Amino acid sequence: MSATQPRVVIVGGGFGGLSAARGLAGVPVSVTLIDKRNYNLFRPMLYQVATGLLSADEIAGPLRSILSRQQNVEVLLDETGSIDTVQRLVHLKEHVVPYDFLVLATGIQYNYFGHDDWRRTAPGLESLDDADLIRGKVLLAFERAEEIAALDRSDAERVRQLLTFVLVGGGTVGVEMASTLAEMSRMALAHDFRHIDPRAARILVYEAAPRVLPAFPEVLATKARRHLESLGVKVYTNTRVTDVDAGGIVANGERIPAATVLWSAGVLASPAGQWLGAPMDKSGKVIVSPDLSVPGHPEIFAIGDTAHVVAPARNLVGMKVKEPMVMPGVAQPAIQEGKYVAALIRRRVRGQEPPRPFWYWDKGDLAIVGRTYAVADLRFVRFAGFAAWIVWAVVHIYFLIGFANRFFVILQWGISFLTKRRQVRVFPGQENAAQAP
Ligand SMILES: Cc1cc2nc3c(=O)[nH]c(=O)nc-3n(C[C@H](O)[C@H](O)[C@H](O)COP(=O)(O)OP(=O)(O)OC[C@H]3O[C@@H](n4cnc5c(N)ncnc54)[C@H](O)[C@@H]3O)c2cc1C
Repeated sequence: MSATQPRVVIVGGGFGGLSAARGLAGVPVSVTLIDKRNYNLFRPMLYQVATGLLSADEIAGPLRSILSRQQNVEVLLDETGSIDTVQRLVHLKEHVVPYDFLVLATGIQYNYFGHDDWRRTAPGLESLDDADLIRGKVLLAFERAEEIAALDRSDAERVRQLLTFVLVGGGTVGVEMASTLAEMSRMALAHDFRHIDPRAARILVYEAAPRVLPAFPEVLATKARRHLESLGVKVYTNTRVTDVDAGGIVANGERIPAATVLWSAGVLASPAGQWLGAPMDKSGKVIVSPDLSVPGHPEIFAIGDTAHVVAPARNLVGMKVKEPMVMPGVAQPAIQEGKYVAALIRRRVRGQEPPRPFWYWDKGDLAIVGRTYAVADLRFVRFAGFAAWIVWAVVHIYFLIGFANRFFVILQWGISFLTKRRQVRVFPGQENAAQAP
């Protein structure tokens, strides 16, 4: 680290921020990466931690060690609360960090559409803490049901409520969670209880749009729905959830008793746009220029889920997919935008011409629907089934950080595939078990 070099501050060490930091390796700048968590998380496999298939450290790695060999980077564990764009200062809880270039990659949070009180009852899956909480909630529901069935046979309604799991939102996260919960109850837990039959658990998905997986082509969404239903999941489309409390939900005016409600129904960008006073879209994403800089601030960039980026795209085989499109809230745009901003900063500090405006290499979308079934839209080809699952598995293993993680994930998958069991069945927070669910 050198005090005389331009200082690049990156806020957020997710897909976008980490990719920007790595892209600055060997560039004569001092990089400060700030994250409120000490780890980089591979969110696409977070649902596997929430359902006990993998443990947290298999899909997350400490930012400090990931970047330990990159001499021009320092990592700070802190939370950004505001930015002074005049003095060029990032405000942390107790300190300020000056910048010459600022990259904001602070992601999103779930949108409860004005009902933030639902967040407590219906957690969303964003962090490792959420995954632990959800795993605990799900396993505890089975424990409670077993206890009641064993000791108070008259309370069948309560058992039914405990064994009802509601997922609000039928996007990728909702579908992946629902299918995995279905298989967990039908296979992994099937023989572990004496008084309840976990296979009787009801998994219900509510989606306000006309179909699940709205980001996928209709033909794949239909196949995904059929597969979900074959696993025993009940899917309600065109159905808005209008109330959530500890006892269940209200959907289409009907009350559904359920002890576990999980949320994945919409997203809201981080407050980066408010910190900057920058133009934002309706979900709060910062609307950026074609070079990903914030209008009026050529030294500030917003990338990934926190930015509203419109860019031309090409697909895997290099064909132009369509005219400029809004970048979807998935990992690839964040990674590619991080690399782009790093290249732009590199050229600027070296006094070179700026790069061409950002364009997106659209590799398509994948979603898993159970143990051996997935849907794949690679833009030039679409398919579903086991072949898509293989593509999903290979891609996700490839993008995991670290050889050890890749090795252990393959091992865990192999064990669970052969034994149909879950490895991670212990969960924290049991001292508070009397209060929940
Ligand atoms: C459960 C789940 C499953 C998903 N599955 C897929 C999938 O299968 N495929 C896919 O492509 N995408 C998937 N996504 C979406 C993908 O994870 C995101 O699009 C991607 O993570 C965006 O990257 P990012 O860098 O913009 O933000 P993130 O990766 O979310 O990183 C943001 C970082 O900013 C930090 N941060 C936030 N606020 C502050 C602050 N104030 N101060 C300091 N640090 C802060 C956070 O701790 C975090 O590390 C999934 C997302 C979720 C939640």
